[in-house]
Amino acid sequence: MRAALQDIIQGRLQAAKVNGGASAAQPRGDGRYVVTGRADARYTVHVASLDAIACDCPAGIHDKPCWHAAAAFLRYVADSTASSTRWLTATQGNPT
Ligand SMILES: [Zn+2]
Repeated sequence: MRAALQDIIQGRLQAAKVNGGASAAQPRGDGRYVVTGRADARYTVHVASLDAIACDCPAGIHDKPCWHAAAAFLRYVADSTASSTRWLTATQGNPT
């Protein structure tokens, strides 16, 4: 599961950064983040843990990778603990 999530995040991390990165995801509390996509569409991403991220966009509801989930992931990690940051660093290979 973790390996699959890494693939999702790595595949969409660049798109998430282009679209504003962590700041594109607005925390709503309780692990939920609102991400505004193209055409002002707003999607809710629920980050239950680093292994369980769900987005309600057309791709996300079919478990397809989307940048909304990646953006929420970036925000989650930015707001989260050092252990999460270490995991992201390991995932990216080159911390910024
Ligand atoms: Zn999405």
